[in-house]
Amino acid sequence: MSLRKPKDKELESYIESHIEEAIEKEWIQVYLQTNIRGLSKRVCGAEALSRWIDPVYGMISPGEFIPVLEKKRKIQLLDRYVMETICRELGERRRRGQFIVPISMNFSRLDFDVPTLLQEMEEIMEKNSLPRNYVHIEITESAVMENEAYMKDTVRELHTLGYKVWMDDFGSGYSSLNLLKEFEFDTFKIDMRFLSDMGKKSLIIISSILYMAKEIGIHTVAEGVETEEQYRFLKVAGCERMQGYYFARPEPMKEWFAHTKESCEMETEEDCYLYDEIGFVNIISPVPFDLERSDSSPSIHGFETGQPVAVMSEMDGVLKHLNFTKPYRKNLLELGYEGTHQFQDLLNDRSILFTDKMRDIMDLARKSGRIEAMDFLSGGRHCQFQTRLVARKGNKNIFLVRLDILSNIRRFQKNKEFQEALSPLYTVYDMVFVFDLKENLLNPVYVNEIYEGVHESSNLRGEIEKFVENKVYPKDKEACWQFLNPDTMAERVESAEKDFILAYFRSKNRKNEYVWKRFVLIRSHERSKQDRVIFGIHTLNMDKVSMMHKEDQQIFQEGDFFER
Ligand code: C2E
Ligand code: CA
Ligand code: CA
Repeated sequence: MSLRKPKDKELESYIESHIEEAIEKEWIQVYLQTNIRGLSKRVCGAEALSRWIDPVYGMISPGEFIPVLEKKRKIQLLDRYVMETICRELGERRRRGQFIVPISMNFSRLDFDVPTLLQEMEEIMEKNSLPRNYVHIEITESAVMENEAYMKDTVRELHTLGYKVWMDDFGSGYSSLNLLKEFEFDTFKIDMRFLSDMGKKSLIIISSILYMAKEIGIHTVAEGVETEEQYRFLKVAGCERMQGYYFARPEPMKEWFAHTKESCEMETEEDCYLYDEIGFVNIISPVPFDLERSDSSPSIHGFETGQPVAVMSEMDGVLKHLNFTKPYRKNLLELGYEGTHQFQDLLNDRSILFTDKMRDIMDLARKSGRIEAMDFLSGGRHCQFQTRLVARKGNKNIFLVRLDILSNIRRFQKNKEFQEALSPLYTVYDMVFVFDLKENLLNPVYVNEIYEGVHESSNLRGEIEKFVENKVYPKDKEACWQFLNPDTMAERVESAEKDFILAYFRSKNRKNEYVWKRFVLIRSHERSKQDRVIFGIHTLNMDKVSMMHKEDQQIFQEGDFFER
C-alpha cells in the first residue's frame, strides 16, 4: 500500500466525504486500551478509541479526523458506530459466556445536540441485552462548558438510565472547579500528560485532586500513566484506576479480548463492587477512619475532625488565638475550660506556674525554630502541649499550637493500668525517662520542664554527659556522673534493695537557677527488660527541707549523695 501524505485541506475534505464509506468498509476500527485497578493491578475495564486505517492515507489519527468530523457535524456517525460495535461485541461475548469488562466510550459535545441520541443508545443496549453498568460515557470538560444547562440535564438523564458518566481530561480546562458542584460526575479522569514532569508542584496538584475527589465522593482514573514511578505514586495517593502505555497500548478490539484473557488477571464483578466501595477510603487523610459522608453533614476533614491545633499570635507578649480547629476547642472543654478565651486568658497570666511553663516552652520554640513540647497533667489525664514558630516580624510572633489529651488516644488507652500507675508518678516528677542501656536509647515519657534532651535519642550516653556538663552544679558534677553512669547503672539498680536508688543533686531549673533535685533510678519490672531503667527527676520543696534537722541537711552539703 503506497501512502500519500495529504495537505491539511485535502485531508479535511477527504475525511468529510469518506466517513460513511470508512464506517461501512470498516476502515474505522475500534481499539481498546486497558484500565487497571490501582490496588490490585488487575484489568477492570477499557476505553474505546477509534482508528481510521485508510487505503489511501494509511493510519489517520483521531487527533486529525475527530476535529474535522466535529466541524462538519458528522461526529455522531462515528460515535454511534463505536457504540454499536462495542455493544454488539459485549452482547455476543456475554451470550457466549465469555468474559466482558465495562467499556468507556468518548462522546463529543455535539453528540448531545442530537435529541434522539439517548434513545438510540437505549435501543442498542436493549438489542444486545446489556446491563447499563457495562458502558461508561466519557465527556470532556470543554463539551460540558459549551452548553452547561443542557449538559446538566443530559448527565442527569444518563444517570437515571443507569449509566456512569466520567469527566474526561479533568483539570485541563479553566473552569473545572466550577463544574464540580454543578455536575454529578461519577468519575474524574485525570490526564498525567498535563502533569507528567513528576515535579513537586505536579505531585501536589495530583494528590490534591485525588484527595478532593474522595472527599466529595467521586471516583478517579489517571490516564497517560507511562512509568512505574507514576504508577506507584498514584497508588499511594489513592487513585483507583489507571490507564496508559505503562500498562498497555490501545489494541484492536478483538485482539484486545483475546490477548487480555490470556495474559492478564481480570477483576471479578464482586471485586469491582468492593473496590468501588473502598474507593473513597482516604488513607492519606488525617482521619482515615472517618467514613461517614452525607450531604446533610459533610465532614470537612482537618477542620471538623482533624488535629487539635490552633494558630496563635503573640504581640508584645500577649497571646491571642487567630484560628483553631474543633478538636482543639473540644480538648479545652474536656479539660474544664469554658472555651478558647479562658485558656487564652490563662496563657496571658504568667503568675500561674502552669502557664508560665507553657510560655517558657513557646519562648524556647521561638528561639529554636523547632517543635517544642511539654507534658502536663490535668484532671489526672496525661496531656501534651506542642508548639512551633511559623512566622515572626517585628514584635509579632505567630505560633502553631497543638494540644493533645494523650490519655484519650486509643494506643495510650490500651495500657490503662500502666496509665493508672504512671499518672501519680507524673505528679511527683518533673521528668520521667526510660533508659535502654543495651541499645543506648533515651525515651522521654513525661517532661514537664524545659530540657533540651526531651527528644528521643539513640545516644543515651552522650545525652547524660551533656546533661551533667550543662545542667548540674559544678561541685555535684562528679557524683552525679557516677550516679548516672550508664556502664554501671544496670548493676547498681539490680543490686539495690528496693529496686531503686536515689540521690540528690543541685541542677538548673528552667530559670537557670541551681535548685536541689531528687534523682531516682528505678528498675524495670519486666523481667526480660533488665537493661531498662526508669529515670525520674523532681524538684525538692526547699521550705520542707529547711524544716529538717540540721544534721539531716548535712547530706545535702557534704557529698554523701547516695541513699539506699
Ligand atoms: P482521550 O479520550 O483523552 O484518549 C486518550 C488518548 O491518549 C488516546 O489517544 C490514547 O491513545 C492516548 N494515550 C493513552 N495512554 C497514553 C500514554 O501512556 N501516553 C500517551 N502519550 N498517550 C496515551 P488517541 O487514541 O489518539 O485519541 C485522541 C483523542 O481523540 C481522545 O482523547 C478522544 O478525545 C478522541 N477520540 C478517540 N476516539 C474517539 C471516538 O470514538 N469518539 C470521540 N468522540 N472521540 C474520540
Ligand atoms: Ca477519553
Ligand atoms: Ca482523556
